[in-house]
Amino acid sequence: MISFEMSDFERELIEMARAQAQIAQRYARYFDKHHDERVPDELPEACDQPNVRSTMLARVAETSGEPIIDMLLYLEEIAGGVPFRASSNESIFLGSKLVHALGNEEQKKRWTGKRIAIALTEPGAGSDPSSIRTTAVWDQSTQHWILNGEKIFISLANTSDAAMVFARFVKGDQKGMSIFVVEKGTAGFKVGAQLDKLGQRSWDTADLSFIDCRLPALNKLDGNMKDTLAIFNRSRPLVAAIGLAYARSALDFTRDALLAAGCVLDYDAGSAGLSAPADRFLRAEASFEAAFLTLLHTKWHESKFGADKVEAAMTKASAGIAARRITQECMALLGAAGASEDQLLEMWFRDARVCDIYEGPGEINRLIIARDFLKYSASELS
Ligand SMILES: Cc1cc2nc3c(=O)[nH]c(=O)nc-3n(C[C@H](O)[C@H](O)[C@H](O)COP(=O)(O)OP(=O)(O)OC[C@H]3O[C@@H](n4cnc5c(N)ncnc54)[C@H](O)[C@@H]3O)c2cc1C
Repeated sequence: MISFEMSDFERELIEMARAQAQIAQRYARYFDKHHDERVPDELPEACDQPNVRSTMLARVAETSGEPIIDMLLYLEEIAGGVPFRASSNESIFLGSKLVHALGNEEQKKRWTGKRIAIALTEPGAGSDPSSIRTTAVWDQSTQHWILNGEKIFISLANTSDAAMVFARFVKGDQKGMSIFVVEKGTAGFKVGAQLDKLGQRSWDTADLSFIDCRLPALNKLDGNMKDTLAIFNRSRPLVAAIGLAYARSALDFTRDALLAAGCVLDYDAGSAGLSAPADRFLRAEASFEAAFLTLLHTKWHESKFGADKVEAAMTKASAGIAARRITQECMALLGAAGASEDQLLEMWFRDARVCDIYEGPGEINRLIIARDFLKYSASELS
């Protein structure tokens, strides 16, 4: 039987993370409005507060395992709107994870500990990596790769030390798709201005350009595209947790507001015994629980058997749609107050929306699930 019972230590960690997220919420609106200002690596209050991640790592044996507790902590921390400590965000530097997974000894030695963003999306290539047009051509005379192209909507573009860039390579007769580490300061590599976007406005997101950018042979990682894209099997559940963090914040806020307005939330009454707003609210809570349990199952599965593409897609697809619907429903339930910038609810609604775009929009994750059920290949069902 699968047990989702938490240990006392896990509860302690979660309470710590929740309390810190509540402090972070005081800064959330400011950075939502001032998206071009960088959030500090630590909020001022962090200097006299414990570091939740290092506390967790020191006693990881007392938890359900890192995949699960990491995700549960995310669910708490993201609700802050801005990170209490940026170091809690190491798991989202997917380029760093690719070095760990696919790099040779020399590459690991050089880039372990560096923060590396992932740069796949370009104009005309997001959901479909086979449309990527950025090129890396091998120059035999100087023994360099020459990179040309552009990437858009890259998370952590400014915060990171380097980008892991997906490009088509040409080396003599060899052609294919691969990934290249491009360090900050490399001639021809530019990071654009902070993007002004709908949600997660305080998050560092920018475009990248590469013009005759020369890279040593070491900077190309060897690994086929299947192994490279497998990184998303671990990261999609984390994005699901991010979306659910917004949904839960919205539910908590709306529950308090409904109770304050005299609405009775009776869990035993059945639909016929509930007022219309209470019925709608309980349905929203139930859809949160369904998506949250799917996420827990995926992380449990990962901790037992390794990350799985279809599990990750199911979690991302269900949390993506649940987070969008729940935050929208909470706004609708509170009427005009729900849309006011005096509260964070309208921000969580916008933030939840973008979670259903990156790392595969819902449509793409549902395609992955459908292919698996129907036993179709990607070319048969696309
Ligand atoms: C806040 C944010 C952060 C991001 N961070 C990063 C990052 O760090 N690195 C990075 O590389 N990218 C990043 N992205 C880009 C993101 O991954 C892409 O936007 C996403 O993969 C979708 O690709 P696209 O924008 O090209 O849309 P498209 O692929 O053009 O899709 C447009 C719409 O069509 C739908 N669609 C596409 N193909 C199909 C199909 N076969 N069947 C049915 N529907 C389909 C999609 O679901 C979507 O709704 C980020 C985006 C955002 C918003």
